[in-house]
Amino acid sequence: MKRIYLDHAATTPLSQKAFEAMKPYFSDMFGNANSQHAFGRDGAKAVTEARQTIADCIGAKPSEIYFTSSGTEADNWAIKGIAAQLLDKGKHIVTSVIEHPAVYTTCKQLEKFGFEVTYLPVDGEGFVSADDLDKAIREDTVLVSVMFANNEIGTVQPIKQLCEVAHKHGVLFHTDAVQATGAIKYDVKELGVDLLSMSAHKFCGPKGMGALYVRNGLRIEKLLTGGEQERAHRGGTTNTPGVVGMAVALKEAVENIDETAKYVGELRNRFVSKVLERIDEIYFNGAKDMSKRLYNNANFSFRYIEGESILFSLDLAGICASSGSACSSGSLEPSRTLLAIGVPVGTAHGSIRFTFGKENTVEDVDYVVDELVKTVEKLRAMSPLYKKK
Ligand SMILES: *Cc1c(COP(=O)(O)O)cnc(C)c1O
Repeated sequence: MKRIYLDHAATTPLSQKAFEAMKPYFSDMFGNANSQHAFGRDGAKAVTEARQTIADCIGAKPSEIYFTSSGTEADNWAIKGIAAQLLDKGKHIVTSVIEHPAVYTTCKQLEKFGFEVTYLPVDGEGFVSADDLDKAIREDTVLVSVMFANNEIGTVQPIKQLCEVAHKHGVLFHTDAVQATGAIKYDVKELGVDLLSMSAHKFCGPKGMGALYVRNGLRIEKLLTGGEQERAHRGGTTNTPGVVGMAVALKEAVENIDETAKYVGELRNRFVSKVLERIDEIYFNGAKDMSKRLYNNANFSFRYIEGESILFSLDLAGICASSGSACSSGSLEPSRTLLAIGVPVGTAHGSIRFTFGKENTVEDVDYVVDELVKTVEKLRAMSPLYKKK
């Protein structure tokens, strides 16, 4: 049976170009990029070029890019690194209630060590308010961390505006741009952010590879102590193939950003309008204005039925979607993000995220809509809640 992958927010297929570019660094050019000999120089040269490429893609300088093992590590480093660096200033952090676990649980952990964290609420479409942020910042606030684009509902925050609010109070601003990077054109200088996280496997790069942008002049405590790698900021032997693959994938994504957004955005829009037309008693979660939402994201709550049952049934038809985020699936807790935008607990349990990619087709969309309609009808027919109506 043909498989249709609609879970691009969880991970994306590796770009063929990136794969080809990585191969030599798994074989002949295996040297440690920090070694002082010919093999080491092969690696070092590749890493230098990759750092330049990534910097160019986001309007940064190469000296502002630090490679990490994942988006999760970049988020941990940004938050814990600034918290540790600014211990003398205070122990208060502001973030949002809809952050990815990489940020959210990091803040929760810091609370165990005596930090206070304000979790900003969001409105019904998932937006953080600049006013709320303004009011939340205190004398002892050391960092504001608000995600660029949400991984579950696709809402894109007004990062530049939020960043200005933080800076008005002299507070640093970090953004988890893992979903935004490669999908939205941005320039770190124009946004004004001090720190920004990204992850390669979300833009068709390899898994286990991320980066943290740290504005020049900003001091940050280390997360991983060790050798002198990453200009003595992050210990650990450089993942040369990963670095190379990440740069090639990001360049490819950024070069094709408009074309991909148009093509995938049209697939997503076709899907959303057909689903809303053919299935009743559902909510379309996240930003209603499609220009303020990731072009590939659609998230629905289907009343009276369980998301897990829908997923299972779709999976039997070869359709791979997700209930909430991959990071929290397996847990029976309803999504923190959906509850935050006001979806009732029962309904939140009946939610599915569909995230499209450039290998999807119009035929895929139409097939998925038909299967989804059948699935929802079948499950609702068995649901005592639905029958009662
Ligand atoms: C996937 C994701 C992460 C984690 O990145 P990994 O590289 O998988 O650790 C962090 N934040 C957001 C918004 C994500 O979507």
